[in-house]
This record gives sequence, C-alpha cells and structure tokens, in this order.
Amino acid sequence: MVHPVHTLDLNFQNRKNAISAYLVPHSEGALLVESGPGSTTDALQKGVESHGLKIDDITHVLLTHIHLDHAGAAGWLAQQGVQVCVHPVGAPHLLNPGKLIASATRIYKDKMDQLWGRFLAVPEDKLMILEDGQKIVVGDLDITAIHTPGHAEHHIAYGIERDIVFTGDIGGMRMPGSDFVILPLVPPELHLEKWRASLEKLLSLNFNRIAPTHSAVFGNAEEHLDLTIAAVNNAAFLVDEVMPTEPTIEEFIEIIKVRMREEAFSKGVSEEEFKTLEVTNPLYISAAGLMRYWNKFRQPKI
Ligand SMILES: [Zn+2]
Repeated sequence: MVHPVHTLDLNFQNRKNAISAYLVPHSEGALLVESGPGSTTDALQKGVESHGLKIDDITHVLLTHIHLDHAGAAGWLAQQGVQVCVHPVGAPHLLNPGKLIASATRIYKDKMDQLWGRFLAVPEDKLMILEDGQKIVVGDLDITAIHTPGHAEHHIAYGIERDIVFTGDIGGMRMPGSDFVILPLVPPELHLEKWRASLEKLLSLNFNRIAPTHSAVFGNAEEHLDLTIAAVNNAAFLVDEVMPTEPTIEEFIEIIKVRMREEAFSKGVSEEEFKTLEVTNPLYISAAGLMRYWNKFRQPKI
C-alpha cells in the first residue's frame, strides 16, 4: 500500500531542500520523521499546518539519529505531548543533552545558536527506545526500526511496510532531480564498512521508495541505494589513495572540495545547489571525519 508522505522543507538558513522532515498522516493523527533543528520549529509548524493538521495531532516523531539537524527540536515536540522514538544509544543524550550541545559548540562556536537554535531535553516518559528490527504500530501504520550504523553508531532507518524507507543520513544527501549523492562523513563514528553493510541491509529489504532527510522522496529505492553504495566506495578509494601521502588537514579539505565539486557539476548539480549541500554538510567536517576514520580503523597496521 502507498501511504501519503508529505515532505516539509524546513527552509534551513533560508535554503530550499537543505533539511526536510516528513509528515505521515495515520488513522489517529500523524507522525513526523525527524524534528529538524531547534532553529526551524516555525517552519515545521507551518509545514504541518499546510496539510490541515496541528502539532497537537502529531503522535510520534521518529528520529533517525540525534544530530542537531535531525533531532534538535525533539524536546520541543515532546513538551507538546509527542512520543519521541530513538536508538538506545541516542536516548541518554536526549534526556541530558549537555554533552551533545558542548561537543557541537566546539565545532560551530558562536554560530551555534543561529544555526541550530535550542536543544531541549526530552522527558523520560516521552521517550520510546527502539531495538533493531523492532516493529511498532502507529494508527494504521506498521513501522520497523532498522539499526543502520556507519554515519553514527546510533542510527535508525524506518520502514513503513515495503512502501518507503526513511534513511536519515545513512542514505546520503541528494537534491531532487539529481543523481549526485554526497555523504555526510562526520567524525567521530564514521565507519565506511559499517555504512556499506547498512546500505546492503536496506537493499535486501526491497523498499519501493526512499526518503533521505536531505532532502526529498525518491521513487526508486534500489537505484538510490546503489548510488549511495557507489559514494561509500568512492570515499574508501579516496582515503586509500590520498591518506598514505600524509596530507595536512588543509590539503585534504582542498582535495575533497575539488573532487566533490567535479563530480557534482558533472552530474548537473548547480552552483547554488552545491552551496546548499555544503551548508548542511561542510566539507571540512567530512575531511576531519575521513581522517579520523583512516587513523582509527583503516590505516594498515605494521
Ligand atoms: Zn547526521
């Protein structure tokens, strides 16, 4: 069965298709996939209202993981009675977001508030912790939580029957109408082998449609997952090729920028769209993620 899924563009930093949340109506109201950041709650609310619903009608929010662009407004939703679904490892950070906020502040410094807004705690009675393969029924929707590490250890993809899978960041980022998939290769848990295994797991489940949080629903899940696996393989080739030459982080950032721009533009991504991808996924962060992954997991041991 095909369920109505509405893409809510959260207009992050006044950009189209940067960050989305998804609104899925069901027999007892509606659920959201992702809350988006704390800085876009107005856009979230307006998006819900544009489909004739109110935040009061939202029963659940399914968080793929707890990074600020996906889960920042979860506490705000919880305050309004919404149940927050999350991975067991993500849950403590929603109860006590202090550590998460401190580490994000180290990265984003004085831009923290303007980018991400407030990250409120989620009270314990509003948390719903989902194990791998766990099924929940929300109204008339049958949902399965699929643990999918690689981008972060605590990542979940959510399937609604075989109709659609919501892939957070594990399915990469892709602009509507484009075949270019870029991966948010963030430290400190980036692990390319786990990422590839997660994508193969999703492929084996034969979903029809796929919805990465950045930033739209695509009709052919298999094709999208194949493009994402190719992007993981490219990232692995890149570290194997470049890291043995021991580049500085500045040199590595430059190499990644050149390679990514070349590939994106050859696949028809516009300069403006590439900027949007960079706003949500700064390439200096991907360089740091890949370098850490190389040093921690991949560097050949003598
Ligand atoms: Zn993420």
